[in-house]
Amino acid sequence: MIHIGEVLVSKGEGGVYGERMLDGYRVWDPYRSKLAALYLVGTCPELKPDMKVLYLGAANGTTVSHVADYVEVVYAVEFASRPMQDLLEVARRRKNIMPILADASSPEHYAPLVETVDLLYQDVAQPDQAAIVIRNSIFLKTGGHLILMLKTRSVDIRKKPELVFQDTLDILMSSGITICESTWLAPYHQDHAAIVCTIKHPV
Ligand code: SAM
Repeated sequence: MIHIGEVLVSKGEGGVYGERMLDGYRVWDPYRSKLAALYLVGTCPELKPDMKVLYLGAANGTTVSHVADYVEVVYAVEFASRPMQDLLEVARRRKNIMPILADASSPEHYAPLVETVDLLYQDVAQPDQAAIVIRNSIFLKTGGHLILMLKTRSVDIRKKPELVFQDTLDILMSSGITICESTWLAPYHQDHAAIVCTIKHPV
């Protein structure tokens, strides 16, 4: 990953979401992107030029655009039409983003469009986040990494965030997924956790 001093940056054309530029690089704002926050508070696999990424919950392409600055291709799944319009504009200005208008709960709908990936990234903020990521793990190559951004309040607003976090870890582990790291994203994002996993064998 590229840092200028303490600042995480990516190399690409700016002007995607009003991000700052620093020495010609795009500043990757940890308050706007949970993945940037994870790179600052935890350990996370490095993004590399030969990597293929499946990104679930692309929204308007803020984080997708930074990931695309580092990797070969990003398959960006989003089911809401409004953010998809912005994502299409981001994809038009980059050569390696494949926007897919689809529900991440139904990977069979976009399976013909997606190849095996090195990294599966999910940020859908839904009650069944763990189930969605498990369903999509069919796209992950053996030994690849899976990153789940967990919004605990979306899973169960009445339950303590710590319990939702632990329940999610249990669900993932009982599916044969190995947890590499799990961390809260404070101070950048409250009640959000990141879970970095790997899969030794297809789930
Ligand atoms: N990852 C984005 C970023 O960092 O720039 C922010 C994502 S936002 C928290 C969650 C997004 O997931 C929303 O745009 C929402 O429409 C999308 N989403 C939620 N459930 C989804 C699903 N089942 N399939 C596809 N997209 C979904």
